[in-house]
Amino acid sequence: QIEITGLVKRFGDNTVLDGIDLCLEPGERVAIIGPSGTGKSTLLRCLNWLDTPDQGTIRMGDVTVDAARATRGQILGLRRRTGFVFQNYALFANKTARGNITEGLTTVRGWPADKARARADDILTQIGLADRGDSYPAAMSGGQQQRVGIGRAMALDADLMLFDEPTSALDPEWVGEVLDLIRRIADGRQTMLIVTHEMQFAREIADRVVFMEGGRIVEQGPPAQIFGNPQDDRTRAFLRRVG
Ligand code: ATP
Ligand code: MG
Repeated sequence: QIEITGLVKRFGDNTVLDGIDLCLEPGERVAIIGPSGTGKSTLLRCLNWLDTPDQGTIRMGDVTVDAARATRGQILGLRRRTGFVFQNYALFANKTARGNITEGLTTVRGWPADKARARADDILTQIGLADRGDSYPAAMSGGQQQRVGIGRAMALDADLMLFDEPTSALDPEWVGEVLDLIRRIADGRQTMLIVTHEMQFAREIADRVVFMEGGRIVEQGPPAQIFGNPQDDRTRAFLRRVG
């Protein structure tokens, strides 16, 4: 179980997260939607300390981190329990597809090289890139690069996978293959938090949809309720705009 309580993040005077409370049950798939600049990416980034939250607590399994007094060991504990998929893939350009997948295993997990390599080859097969292990990112399509980005997160076997608009940087022709892969991960009941502007996709894979605006959770519920019968005016206005 993952529990986020009273999470606050400020950039200067700008309060970007204004007290976020959110719990995820094991295997739960939660989609976050909401207008641009609302703090969705910041929320994901705070969960593994890519951004440093100012207040609040994050509990993942047996690790509890209080923002006011986080230790290095606790932060590493969160990082070990999360996998992050970035909008722009964020692959290491000087590493092959396989090297991108083994990197976290050898550095964060301390795995020996041969074990990491075997795991990477298994993941490459799962993401449909068994024959591209030696390819560098520049030689791959956007869809292939993002599949490597997802494979890198899968390899960590994390308690929580975080996806930040994983298809929004892709040419339309590559969106489908990436959504298919995420769908498969969701089918495996991986606990996931996915920020997406693909409303149809959110409706299909999420157990729960969270609508954020202005650094707060405005409304949340099962997809049928949020999309079919939203209760808050701000949710309704947003859904009208995104069609
Ligand atoms: P989008 O849908 O456009 O991706 P978002 O909901 O993910 O938006 P965030 O990227 O979390 O929004 O940004 C929320 C606010 O925090 C914005 O006002 C943004 O300008 C600000 N912000 C984000 N990162 C930083 C930073 N490193 N320094 C200063 N301000 C930042
Ligand atoms: Mg964002």
